[in-house]
Formats: sequence, structure tokens, C-alpha cells
Amino acid sequence: MTKIRTRYAPSPTGKMHVGNLRSALYEFLIAKHAGGDFMLRIEDTDQERFVEGATEIIYRTLEKAGLKHDEGPDKDGGYGPYVQSERMKTGIYMKYAKELIDKGEAYYCFCDKERLAGLRTEIVEGKEIMIYDKHCLSLSKEEVEEKLKAGLPFVIRQNNPTEGTTTFHDELYGDITVNNNELDDMILIKSDGYPTYNFANVVDDHTMNITHVVRGNEYLSSSPKYVRLYEAFGWEVPVYVHLPLITDENHKKLSKRSGHSSFEDLIEQGFLTEAIVNYIALLGWSPEENREIFSLEELIREFDYHRISKSPAVFDIVKLRWMNGEYLKAMDEDRFYEMARPYLEEALGEGFDLKKIAAMVKTRIETFLDIAGQVDFFKELPEYDVSMYTHKKMKTDAASSLEVLQEVLPLLEEQEDYSNDALYQKLLAYVEQKGCKNGYVMWPIRTAVSGKQMTPAGATEIMEILGKEESLRRIRKGIEKLQEI
Ligand code: GLU
Repeated sequence: MTKIRTRYAPSPTGKMHVGNLRSALYEFLIAKHAGGDFMLRIEDTDQERFVEGATEIIYRTLEKAGLKHDEGPDKDGGYGPYVQSERMKTGIYMKYAKELIDKGEAYYCFCDKERLAGLRTEIVEGKEIMIYDKHCLSLSKEEVEEKLKAGLPFVIRQNNPTEGTTTFHDELYGDITVNNNELDDMILIKSDGYPTYNFANVVDDHTMNITHVVRGNEYLSSSPKYVRLYEAFGWEVPVYVHLPLITDENHKKLSKRSGHSSFEDLIEQGFLTEAIVNYIALLGWSPEENREIFSLEELIREFDYHRISKSPAVFDIVKLRWMNGEYLKAMDEDRFYEMARPYLEEALGEGFDLKKIAAMVKTRIETFLDIAGQVDFFKELPEYDVSMYTHKKMKTDAASSLEVLQEVLPLLEEQEDYSNDALYQKLLAYVEQKGCKNGYVMWPIRTAVSGKQMTPAGATEIMEILGKEESLRRIRKGIEKLQEI
């Protein structure tokens, strides 16, 4: 059996979009599931779209996401070079283009801009596409030689038949048949000598022994032309898996405007790499068993590309937040503290036991950005309304709260040990003596020391963090507030 070989073939044009990462992930999973090789190829032939630093982002992201490539520009596996601009210098694309010319499957075209501007256009997927009229196909060999000798600029075009049909197979979309007269004679080699993506992807996938091609379904409509190239060369067509569109909540193509369209955006928004990878795996793919949390190893084991759906996948940030929260809950304490610390420091500065606070918020946040909102009251007692002292279930109101706070104040003043346990025992003794429920006492105290309805911990844990002086100051403040009404 041939070894499964997949490739991630990004164009270094900017950030790594969610869709790019999904292609990379699926390529990786298909290869690893089958014990095959996953390769990285940099497609930089479109010099106009090249963005400085974009290649580094690709390396960084793949590494962070755990998608280790077996071969690539930095890891020779015998199929290099792995960067298309370097491949071009070896003359590989020109060599194969000439082979097609010799076979009558391609031809030189010398038409200038003015002539092309007058040609028929068609709207394909919202874009205006010029349909070339095969004008230069009729040039004789001698005419071509002459023009080449004269140094006229040229492109090389694919020579597609005008009759018959071409059929290709996609693993998700099935057999797709098009009329050949719909296939325009696309450019294979541009006037700057670079191959187009359309040509390079075929030459490279073949010469690099790629068995499975996974990419966005925006390439679906061009695929018959690629298949025609494979057939013209007499090469075996790889397995195609064209992935469904990823949309935002409004079913529009996920775009920068959504604010979470790239891997970097998501990291900045406090998401964990593992959660992002897990979530992205499920954007279009569903596992056999009904579960959602998968480590990368589990994904490798379970991934079956036949279970990818054709329908658009909705990027649901609420779901991702939930998933991220699950990862945070499951994370070991030390690692969580390590990662949460910068956010805690930013929210609280110095002077707090950040490790204890980290443990409090661990199960209560969905992303690290939620930390500030959970812990800000430690730094400063927020303005709060006395109505917060009233709680139906705890059977508290302003009057009962005032009484409790006034009674516990001297107890807390005489207390020296402000550890959570000691404080809890102290207040428990008071609860027992009073013959009431815990909440009747704890609710007003927690309200007074936090000024919040919801806190990541109970009254005595909060007081332990705040220390004696600040706890007492807040309780006195609570008494004052309640006396005012
Ligand atoms: N360079 C193409 C892109 O970034 C890759 C498409 C493919 O995987 O064939 O969109």
C-alpha cells in the first residue's frame, strides 16, 4: 500500500485564519491516523500578496497547535525544495509546462492587455472572469519561436478541449462533471515566470507524492481544470477533500469583522491552544461517538475524513468559550496558575496571594480574559446597592444584615488568625449560638466584603485574601451603608 502523504500548503499572506488551521489540522490528522507523513509547503508564488513575517506565523502556529510536520522547508525529507519560489528556480514548473506544450495540452500566449481587455467575460462565483478565446493557439511553431526570440512577454496557458466533459471525484461532494467548454484556458506560467497556484499545486502535489489534498471548497470549481492537467500528464489524481465553508453566527463567511477569524485573535482573546484545536476539529467533522472533548492524540485515533459534513460549519464563539472553560477546569493547578498569573497581575497588581485567587477562579471562567471581572473587587470595593443584602432564600434583608454585621464586627476585631478555616470556625460558632442558617450570616458578610452578588469564593475565603484590616474596613462600610437607609 502506498504511504499516505498529506500537505498543508499555505500562502504566506498574513494571519493564520481559522479555515487555514482547519485544513492543516485535517491534513495532519489524515496522515497521522494512517501512520503517514504530513508535509509543509510554502506557496509564495503570488508575490503581490506576500506579507513579510507571515511564514513565521505559520511555523509558530503549527508548532503551538502541535501539528508537527514531518517534512518542510526546515526539515528535508527528500522532496524539496518545499518553498515554491525556490522550486521555481530549479526550473521544475517550466519543464512541466513545456512538456504540456509538446503534448498539445498547453500553448504560449502573447496577447497584450489591450487585446485581453476586449475579450468576453463571465461571472463565476461573484467574480468577473475573462474567457480567453484561444487566439494564440493558432500561432505556428515558427511564429512562436520568432516572438520568443524577439523577447515578447508571454504566458503559458492550458489548452482545454471545447467539447466533451470532465469528471472528478471529491470524497465529500461525490462525482462532479462539467462541460469542457466551461473550462477556460487558465494561465499556468505567468509573464513573470512564476507558476500560478493552479499549475504549481498539481505539479507539486504529484512530484511530492501527495495522496490526499484537503482544502477549502473555493477550489472546487477549479478542480476539473486540475484534473485535466493530471490527465494530460498521465498522472494519478490525488484523493480530494474539499471542506465546507466556515460561517459566522449570521451564516456569513467568517471574516475579520467577526473579530475571531484567526488563530492569533483567539489566543489574544484568552483561548487555549488545545481548546481551539479541539473546537476547530469539530467545525465540519463529527466523531462516531457523541462526545466533544478530544485531545490531539484522541483526534488522531478517531479522525475519519468520511465523517466530514458538506454543510457550512458555523463558528460559534459561545460554544468555543464553553469548551475552553472545560479545558481550564481539567487543567492541573500549577499550569493554570502559570498561565493565569499575567492576567491576575494585571487585574490586581501586587500584594495579593495570586495563587490562592487563581485556584478560586479556575472553575469559574471560560477564558483568561474573564479573570479581571471575577477578581477586581479584591483590589477595590466596588460601589454597590444595599438592595444586594436582601436575599429571599437566605432570608436576609437590610435590617437582618445590619444586625448580623454589627454583631460579628467585634468578633472579627478580636480575631487574630485570618485564615479561612479559623474565620469559618469563628463564624460557625456565632451561627450556632444565634440558631440561624449559615447563609443568614454569610450572605451579608460576603456582600459587605465583596460588594458583589457573585464571587469566586465564600465570605471567609475572601477575608483571608483581604486580610484583617481591609476586611474590617469593608464590614464597617457595610454597616454605614445600611444605617443610612
Ligand atoms: N496556497 C493555497 C491557499 O493558501 C493552498 C490551497 C491548497 O491547499 O491547495 O489557499
